[in-house]
Amino acid sequence: MAAAQKAAQGHSRAHRARARPLSRREKLTLTTQFRNKPRIPCPHCGETAGIRKSQGLTPVYREAVIECRNPECGWRGKISIEITHTITPSDMPNPTVALPLVPRLRELAMAKAATG
Ligand SMILES: [Zn+2]
Repeated sequence: MAAAQKAAQGHSRAHRARARPLSRREKLTLTTQFRNKPRIPCPHCGETAGIRKSQGLTPVYREAVIECRNPECGWRGKISIEITHTITPSDMPNPTVALPLVPRLRELAMAKAATG
């Protein structure tokens, strides 16, 4: 490979490094980081509360009944879960879902658009 070509390639790689999309491997790494189930504590006794039934009202909004696992407490309540932002864009995007990117990704996307 000619030196000029190498230099050009090196330049474009450095140029793209900031805005390049995540690879499959990187996506998987991110996913495995969240494999530990999130724990929601009971607001009264602090014991883990379990989600009993959950109902999706929209693709990005869900409501659920939550129940304390401490039999001496017995609290039950309602929670809502709203998906607010995209961290890693889907490779199978649902056209009805319009989620803003997390601010860091928005900056990268705008920088990419500005530089072509
Ligand atoms: Zn409790």
